[in-house]
Amino acid sequence: MSLLKLKLHWQILIALVLAVLVGLIVGREAGLFGVSFYALFDFVGQLFLNALKMLIVPLIVSSIIVGVSGLGGSEHLGRLGGKTLGYYAMTSLLAILVGLTLANLIQPGVVEGDPSEVFGFSAEAAALQERIGSRDAGDVVEVFLRMIPTNVIEAAADGQMLGLIFFSLLYGFFLARLAEDRGRVQRRFFEGLFEIMMHITDLIMRFAPIGVFALVARTVADTGLEAFGPLALFFLTVTLALATHFLVVLPLLLYFLGGVDPRRHYAAMGAALVTAFSTASSSATLPITLECVEKNAGVSNRTSSFVLPLGATINMDGTALYECVAVLFIAQAYGLELTLGTQFLVVSLALLTSIGVAGIPAASLVAIAVILSAVGLPLEGIGLILAVDRLLDMMRTAVNVFSDSCGAVIIARSEGEHDVLKPRPTVSAPSV
Ligand code: ASP
Repeated sequence: MSLLKLKLHWQILIALVLAVLVGLIVGREAGLFGVSFYALFDFVGQLFLNALKMLIVPLIVSSIIVGVSGLGGSEHLGRLGGKTLGYYAMTSLLAILVGLTLANLIQPGVVEGDPSEVFGFSAEAAALQERIGSRDAGDVVEVFLRMIPTNVIEAAADGQMLGLIFFSLLYGFFLARLAEDRGRVQRRFFEGLFEIMMHITDLIMRFAPIGVFALVARTVADTGLEAFGPLALFFLTVTLALATHFLVVLPLLLYFLGGVDPRRHYAAMGAALVTAFSTASSSATLPITLECVEKNAGVSNRTSSFVLPLGATINMDGTALYECVAVLFIAQAYGLELTLGTQFLVVSLALLTSIGVAGIPAASLVAIAVILSAVGLPLEGIGLILAVDRLLDMMRTAVNVFSDSCGAVIIARSEGEHDVLKPRPTVSAPSV
């Protein structure tokens, strides 16, 4: 059977495995005719990423406007909004608690000998510290200030999703209240816009195996595997915590709150998970998340177009968990015991900042800087985790996206949608 006949998610998975092998073999230098493979992977990966990012603004605007204006009465919107926020806060908190427990049990930062010698500070630490500057809790306030943008076009152009979401929510709410003759054309327009975005997503998805291959091969060629050494235990702790949330906590919620078979949901989300993993960006993955949740999991557009764009921006379980483990790890590496009160502060700040963190690669580093300065730890500590951040970013992004999709399923079921994740002949990647 030709490779192209395989289902898309298999093609993507094969690309992923090949990418790791190729990345390890070629490294940063190898090339052909003066062009390094690394530069080639970087170029192709960037093209794929650009194509996904291109859709974010029109997709968020059209899906939220269509979703909210289709909800009808304000009590309906209030109910759905309440459930969505409640679910997001609950799962992020659960994720943080998983991270907190494992970081305290495993204590990845506690080492024999001088910690700074054992870990060795990354050369980039100083540059990073300069970039992050004197971040403090004021930055968290800043994020929430931007929720209400002074200029919505600027918010869109700058990728300030919270502001764009807020404006689109209001727009959809009042569009539903326009008289039929005035509202009809606009509603049709936004429905059409949304449909076109989904068609373009289909098209981009055909290139996903190539894009995923290039992105992952570039990352592996760049970081290799040596970086891990002393950080192995930290890496393991984060991985274990993410896996617990992904393989235990979320499926239990799917089963008990949603009444669905979690295995079906994993199958439905395959393409979105691999894309999240390779792009390390929940925002860039949003088009594919929407497609998988609607087409494969069978959630109505009404629910998913409200729950998912919000989730891609404010619900980051993997990120919240990572922030917590990273801060505890850094504290341990500096030989500091965090009191229960300080750990509580870390948990609260991880929850808050994970809401404000953008769905882009490495965004949590800034949040970690905020928490470190709030609890009085040196910012330089971030230098410790830089070497393994990218790979962990890929994993936590997949968890972020999966939690959003579980939210869509659970909320859809609670709204009486009976077709969600029902056995059907095709429950795999989007058929493109
Ligand atoms: N890369 C993550 C995301 O897009 C955010 C982060 O944790 O850095 O979901």
